Amino acid sequence: MRSEPFDAIVVGGGLVGAAIAWGLQRQGLATVLLDEGDTAFRASRGNFGLVWVQSKGLGAPWYQRWTRASAAEWPALAAELGARTGEDLGLRQPGGVHLCLSDREMADREARMARMRQEAGNQPYEYRMIAAPELRQMLPGLGPEVVGASWTPYDGHANPLRLLHALHTAFAGAGGTYVPEARVGEGQAAPRDFAVTAGGRRFAAPRIVLAAGLGNADLAPRFGLSAPVRPQRGQVLVTERAAEVLPMPTTTIRQTQEGSLMLGDSMEEVGFDIRQTPDVMRQIAGRAVRCFPWIGRLAIVRAWSALRVMAPDGLPVYDESARFPGAFTANCHSGVTLAGAHARLLAPMIAAGRLDPMLDRFTAGRFDVRAAS
Ligand SMILES: Cc1cc2nc3c(=O)[nH]c(=O)nc-3n(C[C@H](O)[C@H](O)[C@H](O)COP(=O)(O)OP(=O)(O)OC[C@H]3O[C@@H](n4cnc5c(N)ncnc54)[C@H](O)[C@@H]3O)c2cc1C
Repeated sequence: MRSEPFDAIVVGGGLVGAAIAWGLQRQGLATVLLDEGDTAFRASRGNFGLVWVQSKGLGAPWYQRWTRASAAEWPALAAELGARTGEDLGLRQPGGVHLCLSDREMADREARMARMRQEAGNQPYEYRMIAAPELRQMLPGLGPEVVGASWTPYDGHANPLRLLHALHTAFAGAGGTYVPEARVGEGQAAPRDFAVTAGGRRFAAPRIVLAAGLGNADLAPRFGLSAPVRPQRGQVLVTERAAEVLPMPTTTIRQTQEGSLMLGDSMEEVGFDIRQTPDVMRQIAGRAVRCFPWIGRLAIVRAWSALRVMAPDGLPVYDESARFPGAFTANCHSGVTLAGAHARLLAPMIAAGRLDPMLDRFTAGRFDVRAAS
């Protein structure tokens, strides 16, 4: 079979792969984006839509810096994708709160935020612990059980499906080649010389990026890489549209552009099981109603579960293969938040052929796993 030549192959058309593929194409690299399709697990179609900073990277300030950098890139990403596709990504970054329902929760949160600031070192880390009376002014309709919250100005949210659609549309509009129903199994790897067969076609390029979400665990070793990611289930509920207005997102409750409330999202270690369970749905709804009693009057109109792409320590994994330079992998459980960084910071590094030292701490080598030879 004749190979179709490209400058870069990206495997996986979810938020991570699409952001990188768009970023590469934007850099002028002829890029092909291969996606398995609906038979795969796809976190990008089932997430909560937060562009969230405040709790990311406790004990790992390099992750906090990367997350902050991404949140800072988001307005430019949204503006550029909006201009190219006409898509309103619904980005709002008004700051966000983590609500606490007991004094104990509030004390734990305060300790956590103080540590975040300390670990931020020279970079300012602005936050406040806000007690209930002031919080009630900020968030009308707050329940009597809420004792306070942590607040940072860095948090926000967006419409994740529009983001995914806009990334694909901008990629294709800039001349990128998207191939759906194209599962990559085997591939041929040599330094800066890769070939894969997918969807009955063969593609060759000097660079390959493995961004196949949970599929990366199997795929990475074939390219001298390691991606020890596991599934972690999250369940989400959506209410009918509300007359009330929630002015900023919380860690587990956000109001969409259209007015619905999204209530989330559990963290369950149940393997590749995407069933929904009444007990977890009840817990999610129960906590939301304790935070904002008026939510109890709204009907739940949709609910789903999806699987996060989780590394053993919960941090992203970015790597370039030592054995096959030109092969990269990208894995994370915050693909909405990190879309700004993936499209506008990581893709230029991959285009230049080298990851920046700021990403050194994200190597899979930190798990003491040996990349397959
Ligand atoms: C319940 C829940 C809530 C979340 N909330 C947030 C949030 O609020 N904010 C946030 O930032 N993040 C959130 N996330 C995480 C976010 O959704 C993920 O980080 C992101 O979607 C991961 O994108 P991905 O492209 O790596 O993976 P996926 O979306 O899983 O995409 C992987 C793609 O690779 C393809 N694929 C797999 N194997 C192959 C193969 N062999 N060949 C070709 N293609 C292949 C699949 O078809 C799939 O389309 C949440 C996730 C969940 C589950």
